[in-house]
Amino acid sequence: MRCEICGKRIVGKPIKTKIDSSVMDVCKECSRFGKVQREPRKPRKSPVKRRPARSRGPEPIYEVVEDYGKIIRAERESRGWSREDLAERINEKVSVINRIESERMEPDIKLAKKLERLLNIQLLEKFEGDETDKIEAGGFRGATIGDIARIKRS
Ligand SMILES: [Zn+2]
Repeated sequence: MRCEICGKRIVGKPIKTKIDSSVMDVCKECSRFGKVQREPRKPRKSPVKRRPARSRGPEPIYEVVEDYGKIIRAERESRGWSREDLAERINEKVSVINRIESERMEPDIKLAKKLERLLNIQLLEKFEGDETDKIEAGGFRGATIGDIARIKRS
């Protein structure tokens, strides 16, 4: 490759230089006469891969069922466990059990799941987005002790 202006042999890469509106391959010295053209930038791939927007709805939301305290207590008593027994089994303080059973404290999701597994009961209802109607339709599990207590009360 020779310089298009001075005809000198170019060592290495020629420099693309714009002179009088035409781009020429020239040597380093001659590139001073025109405007050096930069190599067109290669479109770089973004290093951060964008995840496609999820078409799924929002994450399911769990809610502790009504009468969770009565459900837990009934199940515990049916097994002949004291509150201390239950507390020990789920690695919680007895005071936590007291508060949960008297419904002064809702168990958090983690604790509720632990109790569900241990006692084989349902304490959590899953809400998916705004499809709250589904729970009425599909989540009916028959009358619970809580329901009966409520009927008596009214
Ligand atoms: Zn030259």
